[in-house]
Amino acid sequence: MSSIVLASSNPGKLAEFNALLADSGLNVVPQSAYAVSDADETGLTFVENALLKARHAARISGRPALADDSGLCVEYLRGAPGLYSARYSGTHGDNAANNAKLLQEMKDVPTEQRGAFFICVLVLLQHADDPAPLIAEGRWHGRVLTEQRGAHGFGYDPLFLPDGETVTAAEMPPGLKNRISHRGRALAELRQRLAAPHV
Ligand code: IMP
Repeated sequence: MSSIVLASSNPGKLAEFNALLADSGLNVVPQSAYAVSDADETGLTFVENALLKARHAARISGRPALADDSGLCVEYLRGAPGLYSARYSGTHGDNAANNAKLLQEMKDVPTEQRGAFFICVLVLLQHADDPAPLIAEGRWHGRVLTEQRGAHGFGYDPLFLPDGETVTAAEMPPGLKNRISHRGRALAELRQRLAAPHV
C-alpha cells in the first residue's frame, strides 16, 4: 500500500481520510511523521490555501501529499467568514465565539437573505512540483439560523440548516453528516478521480 502525507496535524481528519480512502490502496500518514510544520496559509481562496499546504508537505516529506481547506461562506456577508472561518472572532478554533459573532453579524437579516454554504477543497499532489494536481470540491448549501440547535459536530454546525433538512448539521447523526456534507462530497469526488484510469 503506498502512503501519502496528510497536510494536517488533526487526528480526527487523519482517521476520516484513512477510513474513506482505505479501499483506494492509500495509507494516509500525518505530516508530523515527516516533521512537516504548518504551512503559511497566504492564499485568498480555499483552493490556493489547499495547494500551498499540499506543496509544502510534499516538498518537505518527499512524498505525495493531500491537503484540505474548508469553511463557511455566507452570501449576505459576501463570502465571510470564508477563509477565516476558524478564527472569525479573533481566536483560532473558538467555536462559541465564532458562532456568537456570526449571530451578531446576521442580526435582523431576514430568512431569505440568510443563505450560506460550507465548502471543502481537497488537493492531491504527486510531488512538490506536480503541475497537474488532483483537485476535488464539495459544497453544502443551506442557511444560517437565528439560534443554535444541536450538540453534534463542530464549528458552525449548530447554526447551519442544510437545504431540504429539518435538523441542523449539529442535530444530525455524525454518520449522516459525513455522507452528505461538503467534506463527504469532496472525498467522494476524490475517490472517484483516484479510481478512474490514467489518474
Ligand atoms: P479547517 O479546514 O478544518 O481548518 O476548517 C476551517 C473552519 O471552517 C473550521 O474551524 C470551522 O469553523 C469551519 N468548518 C469547516 N467545516 C465545517 C463543518 O463541517 N462544520 C462546521 N464548521 C466547519
